[in-house]
Amino acid sequence: MFNGLTDWGSLLFTQKNMRNKIFTILLGLIAVLIGTTRLSAQGVDIAPCGEVDHEFEFKPLDLVQARVRVLDTEYEIPLKFWVVESSSGTKAASLEEINTAMESLNSYFEESPFTFTLDPNVERITDSELFNYNHQTDFSKTVEYRQSDRVNIIVANTLSSSGKAVCGFAFFPISGDVSDADKDKYNSVFMARSCLVNSSTPGSPTKNTLAHELGHYFGLFHTHETSKGKELVNGSNCSEAGDFVCDTPADPKLGYANTSNGQCIYNGEDLDELGQAYNPDVNNIMSYSPYWCRKSFTPNQLERMEAVFTQYRAEQVSHVVKRILGSGNLGTEARVSPNPVVGNRLRIVKPGGLPRSLAQVIDASGHEVCTFEAEGNSHEEDISYLAPGIYVLRLKRLGGFSEEGEILRFVKK
Ligand SMILES: [Zn+2]
Repeated sequence: MFNGLTDWGSLLFTQKNMRNKIFTILLGLIAVLIGTTRLSAQGVDIAPCGEVDHEFEFKPLDLVQARVRVLDTEYEIPLKFWVVESSSGTKAASLEEINTAMESLNSYFEESPFTFTLDPNVERITDSELFNYNHQTDFSKTVEYRQSDRVNIIVANTLSSSGKAVCGFAFFPISGDVSDADKDKYNSVFMARSCLVNSSTPGSPTKNTLAHELGHYFGLFHTHETSKGKELVNGSNCSEAGDFVCDTPADPKLGYANTSNGQCIYNGEDLDELGQAYNPDVNNIMSYSPYWCRKSFTPNQLERMEAVFTQYRAEQVSHVVKRILGSGNLGTEARVSPNPVVGNRLRIVKPGGLPRSLAQVIDASGHEVCTFEAEGNSHEEDISYLAPGIYVLRLKRLGGFSEEGEILRFVKK
């Protein structure tokens, strides 16, 4: 029997000197806390969260959400595993366990635009001190174990932070005027062995921790997040409080104490600030409900992850964009050339020639930013004046049938 999970906590800290004009730059160290208490059928005490001090904001997303999935873009993202090995040769995870974890991870992201692949070069870290990793004393020792263009997953036998055992933790994205070395340093997810793989033990916290941590890596907060204010049950402040995601209902902080044993039904009696009773999503991967209840992300969480990925991670992590073609009938492809690398020229490509078309660039708030005409096999437009962000490109054939046109999306870095 797994030796109990008492809580997941957030340990968040701010890095000084990492600020840009648009977003306050913060790092979140997100921990899944494992207590020493044995998990019982009656539930366990919820340990307090660690220090909560984070500021990873992504407000423009509220506006982007409705439009960001205009294109059916898919991203294939390689994960680079680093497995700590004790001096006696015991590995914190076998290749088989890693493969199982990957399979499980992809099943949780099935509805998302992300597919994760395993970088075949799984590395070993032979260091008996890191085998049972203590975040306060060991983090700096792990910094050399990063590959800058990968999502780095470091698996230790056990993890602990501030004296508490944890299942895993991840960092929020960093942006702005930050050195590449710092970006690499926090380009990592840490996992404890017992939480990495599936287990046949009922209630074992093994299936979704990696998915939860990658949720943080792609900018998701816990559904019970309150650092920017408590989300109201009526949802009226959902875009500026709580987890900033509007289709995750207000969450009073789920846990064993307010969830029916084994049935994943919220039975708490908390009221929000307006006196309304909560009706939280017990199945949400980003909640603290009993881990066997956590099964899914919501559509808006997926959109937030995609938007955070394109704005913060795409530049950092080598990945394959599987499809950037629009669903329209002009068969055109648009990219900031070469997307996703930084560039100032929007390139519209149509092998065989695009008929003379009107191109309309629309920003995240739905406003038209500019229009221009495009024609031919390849049209390039200078977009250096556009602020970084996600834009929709609407193409409409001039002088053709009125329904001829399509909508594409591009990212300006
Ligand atoms: Zn978390």
